[in-house]
Amino acid sequence: MTVGGSRIDTRARIAIIGAGPAGLSTAWFLGKQGFHDVTVLEKLGRVGGLCKSVTIDGMSYDLGANYLTWAYTETLAIAREVGAKTYKEKPYTSIEIVRDAEGRDTARYRPLKEAVLFNPFTKEKVRVFAFMVAALKYLWLRFRLVRVIDRPDYLARIDVTSHPELCVSFKHWLRGNRLDALASLFEFPVTIMGYGQLRDIAAPYVLRYISLKTFFPMIAHNIPLLGPLFQLLLPWPRRFTLGFQRMWQQVSWRTNVRLNVNIQKITRDPDSLEAPIRITYQTLQQELNNLDTVEGCMDFDYLILACPLTPDVFEQLGLERTDAEAAMSDKILVNPYCMTTYWVEGMQMPQPIAPILPLPDRGTPWAVARQFQHEGNYFTQFYTRTDASECGRTLDKEAWDGIEANVKTEVRKLIGLLGGHPDETHSRWSTYDRFTYFQHVEPVEIGQGYYRKLEDLQGADRTFYVGGVTDFELVEPIVQHSKYLVEMHFVGRT
Ligand SMILES: Cc1cc2nc3c(=O)[nH]c(=O)nc-3n(C[C@H](O)[C@H](O)[C@H](O)COP(=O)(O)OP(=O)(O)OC[C@H]3O[C@@H](n4cnc5c(N)ncnc54)[C@H](O)[C@@H]3O)c2cc1C
Repeated sequence: MTVGGSRIDTRARIAIIGAGPAGLSTAWFLGKQGFHDVTVLEKLGRVGGLCKSVTIDGMSYDLGANYLTWAYTETLAIAREVGAKTYKEKPYTSIEIVRDAEGRDTARYRPLKEAVLFNPFTKEKVRVFAFMVAALKYLWLRFRLVRVIDRPDYLARIDVTSHPELCVSFKHWLRGNRLDALASLFEFPVTIMGYGQLRDIAAPYVLRYISLKTFFPMIAHNIPLLGPLFQLLLPWPRRFTLGFQRMWQQVSWRTNVRLNVNIQKITRDPDSLEAPIRITYQTLQQELNNLDTVEGCMDFDYLILACPLTPDVFEQLGLERTDAEAAMSDKILVNPYCMTTYWVEGMQMPQPIAPILPLPDRGTPWAVARQFQHEGNYFTQFYTRTDASECGRTLDKEAWDGIEANVKTEVRKLIGLLGGHPDETHSRWSTYDRFTYFQHVEPVEIGQGYYRKLEDLQGADRTFYVGGVTDFELVEPIVQHSKYLVEMHFVGRT
């Protein structure tokens, strides 16, 4: 069995760590290529990772990934095969918070197309004509980048030698291309959805995210008179009717997934014929109606890490990092981000999702969402980027509780401003989920070939890496990357 350019034996025993979109899609594509001895090990009692769905009053609601755009070709192909249905989501609105001279805040809904006509850098209004010219220019520039960005190995192909113009922050890229007029529009999917300020995030990530197929409907749906026609012809974005997590659940039914696996140690001995990869674990074993905690050990030929690759996860897995892995993993940055939900009475939203623009301070909610309001659902979600100071630090329970309490105070304040009140009776429960979100590196690292080095690591010590760290923190790019990994490194297609 060799790696890199030649085919790995389809009888190889393969372990995948993590049953999120990366792990499950890799198992799916391996299965399609004839690899049948694939085991996915997941620490939680459910699959889906950051795709998490709950059911409220018979309706499925997404607390993690929720939107699919026209660009989601690979994800939708899998969904079609497992029979997961989608529906078209209604358009967006926005919320504006205004502070008066006495320091009192008021909130009002206003159409998103009005809110994005604002330049957050100069704090000046943007004229519709200037916005439309900039939008057309983005389409043209993005079209010229299709051959660079729309391929799963795009990051490994970008560095200061090949594409110096892309090794900068997205704000720098916008400015360099005189596209400031679009800054508020990009703040919605980028900053508000947890990927960071435009001045921090590297340009290639945003360009990958906002592809032609994602950007064009965003603009075309709002063109006067023609907008409704485009909405009919391009019915995007969509959501899974039973939730994003349930789509992955359907995939997992065709995959050998073990849940509740607490991995204690992973050892690698690449030259061993019998046990190149040995995984020791504890798990909850369910035999008909008995539940036991058992310990076990499994041997594999290859290891695929489909979980975050931050240093703490290697530690959790009891997996000693090689020098190259440590160099890669130590550079990963993440954003602290959280989702809070309440059942909110007395508050009507004109559309199911509303970013808050202009963007308020960190620690306050940045977007509000509510699915199925017309069917009587008042389960409402609030997206908050918490203060950056806790990022990458190990905090004690008291500190985490303090952050949660602050977020909830700000969410309740916003609910009040919007005329609602949270119902916290036991049947109307509320949730709070904190994520370390968006594994990424700084623009300068991309310039110095970070992703080329990561690509060169694939297969070393019989270990492979998939998921957010290899592409961009969004389901479709991650699924595309899983397919690429299987075709490139397991099948040996170049
Ligand atoms: C609020 C929110 C909204 C989002 N909206 C969208 C959207 O609209 N559209 C979109 O495409 N994407 C969206 N995303 C992003 C999307 O959910 C992620 O990009 C995607 O889930 C990442 O997939 P992954 O498999 O790489 O990682 P994850 O989803 O993080 O999965 C990793 C898995 O590894 C497991 N794991 C971790 N450590 C271990 C261990 N030690 N042992 C075993 N298993 C382990 C985890 O439990 C998890 O199941 C959103 C995310 C969030 C949080």
